[in-house]
Amino acid sequence: QFVRRPLIAGNWKMNMDHMQAIALVQKLAWTLDDAGHDYERVQVSVFPPFTDLRGVQTLVVGDKLSLDYGAQDLSEKDSGAYTGDISGAFLAKLGCTQVLIGHSERREIHGEGDETVNAKINAALRHELAPVLCVGEGLDVRQAGDHVTHTLAQVEAALQGLAAEQLSELVIAYEPVWAIGTGEVAGPEDAQEMARAIRAKLAELYGQELAEATRILYGGSVKSANVASILAGADVDGALVGGASLDAEEFAKIAQFE
Ligand code: PEP
Repeated sequence: QFVRRPLIAGNWKMNMDHMQAIALVQKLAWTLDDAGHDYERVQVSVFPPFTDLRGVQTLVVGDKLSLDYGAQDLSEKDSGAYTGDISGAFLAKLGCTQVLIGHSERREIHGEGDETVNAKINAALRHELAPVLCVGEGLDVRQAGDHVTHTLAQVEAALQGLAAEQLSELVIAYEPVWAIGTGEVAGPEDAQEMARAIRAKLAELYGQELAEATRILYGGSVKSANVASILAGADVDGALVGGASLDAEEFAKIAQFE
């Protein structure tokens, strides 16, 4: 049914210390195993806080878990006098394969603009981390009817100067800000409308091949009860899940959508 391998990604945000992280990953892995989860068919990734990554790596490698994991952010620099920042080189060394970039909470709380997002995508690519680029509009933009223009402009600015050959692992997550952590869910038609528009923009910028290969996720109050209808959209290739990813059983159910 899916032309692209669906991705169910869990953004833990600033939740779970390093002990809780181990318990959550173990429970998630057991629950998915019990359900006979086929990771080849549906990829599952978690995005814990930085301080959890070493423990998650030990568990994933030690127990040969098929889960992927990544960080919620990275520095646009590789090393040096950048107090408090984390290099993509460190993330790659910890076995991260993906990294969230441009989440709306980074954009809003830390003032990250398109230029920073673009620099962070470049940093991720330097370290062979697949960027999961987050885009999406706020409520005012949606109410003004400018959500497609706004979101496509974010995509274009984030990818400025990059070539198609660099973007084979790119994932884009469409997250309408008004639907994040609010219980408000964009309708399946809204998710599909934007995913299709993003794919068309990729085709315009990079050609049909990259556009067809790129996974486009929806994020915003996704739960086991609504995931199947959202993923029914032909251009929606998975979900970025915040709150519901902190509950192993619920997140496993989301990964087992259908
Ligand atoms: C998110 O922050 O990426 C997200 C989608 O959050 P929630 O699922 O809690 O709305």
